[in-house]
Amino acid sequence: MKVTFPHMGNLYIPLRALFENLGLTVIVPPKSSKRTLTLGTRNSPEFACLPLKVNVGNFIEAFELGADAVVMAGGVGPCRFGYYGEVEREILEDLGYNFEMFIIEPPQGRFREVLHELGRLVGRVTASQVIHAVRIAWEKLSSVEALERLAAKVRARELQKGSVTKALAQALKDIDKAETLGEIRTARLDGLSTISGVPQREDYTPLRVGIVGEIYVVLEPFVNLDVERELGEMGVEVERSIYLGDWIGLHVIKDMLRFGRGSLKRVKRLASPYLQHFVGGHGIESVGHSVEYARKGFDGVVHLAPFTCMPEIVAESILPRVSKDLDIPIMSLIFDEHSADTGVVTRLEAFVDLISRRRSRLGNLGKDTGDVSYAGLYRR
Ligand code: SF4
Repeated sequence: MKVTFPHMGNLYIPLRALFENLGLTVIVPPKSSKRTLTLGTRNSPEFACLPLKVNVGNFIEAFELGADAVVMAGGVGPCRFGYYGEVEREILEDLGYNFEMFIIEPPQGRFREVLHELGRLVGRVTASQVIHAVRIAWEKLSSVEALERLAAKVRARELQKGSVTKALAQALKDIDKAETLGEIRTARLDGLSTISGVPQREDYTPLRVGIVGEIYVVLEPFVNLDVERELGEMGVEVERSIYLGDWIGLHVIKDMLRFGRGSLKRVKRLASPYLQHFVGGHGIESVGHSVEYARKGFDGVVHLAPFTCMPEIVAESILPRVSKDLDIPIMSLIFDEHSADTGVVTRLEAFVDLISRRRSRLGNLGKDTGDVSYAGLYRR
């Protein structure tokens, strides 16, 4: 069995490690591209969510490389994610592909069902093999995110445009190649020190922007047209509201073990003056995190959403009130298969211009941490 899965940012690095260490052969689809999107769009219903279309393109490209099994996350709640897996299965079967599909539903306390589906996927494995695979995958995931967080801080200050992006790409390759815990930690430390060693502007206090929105669009640079890099190269320090490690910790591990979801409760509390109900996806988080960024003194918020995404349409209708009440500029960017780099870059430039004028008018309200070494990320 040759297993594949959809791309979502750098998720392929820990997922490849997880499945390979469980004894599976993994076919990682080629990185999402115009071809992926064309294949997905051509073969999906017109009004399907954009992430579904890109997923379908990823699967077709993986089948072309020999994959014959698909792993896909399931979902619950009022938005369409709950039936993504089934719709994708039908689309691919109608196209004549012969494959097996494994849909891993969110555990929500039903640990056994998740284990059953995982057992069907990986077959007989020992407990120590599972523990080892999970440790390696988790170490890779946390290393990838430590590198991404540091890159977002340093990129805003780099002297030569593109140098952080280049250093990050090499560090990610090294993490992907590393096989043991020791090799992963070495690759992480080397990567962190290369990124923080990039020549930087001195005495520069960057603007700070928080990114909120639907998880797939926030994490997948092909779909969001590399918003995080674009802003960084305009001299803006970007903080994402969603990192996959936090999301897995909150929605999978704590959920499985039935721990409290403290940070989700906090975000819901922040959103509560504007939105009190779960609307699916990350709608409530988009509102709560925007409030949080305003309170932390950020210069602005960029809200990312796929076209027709129901939870984010709700958030988008609320964010102007958050912006007015808390006096923070918020810009929504909606993506579909017709979105183009130039349009997005123009809007980002206008937004950065606006927030930098506001910063000059208000004085230096955005607080620069000045801590570009991000010492906490260097843990062994
Ligand atoms: S969160 Fe939005 S994009 Fe994602 S499945 Fe739900 S409606 Fe579609």
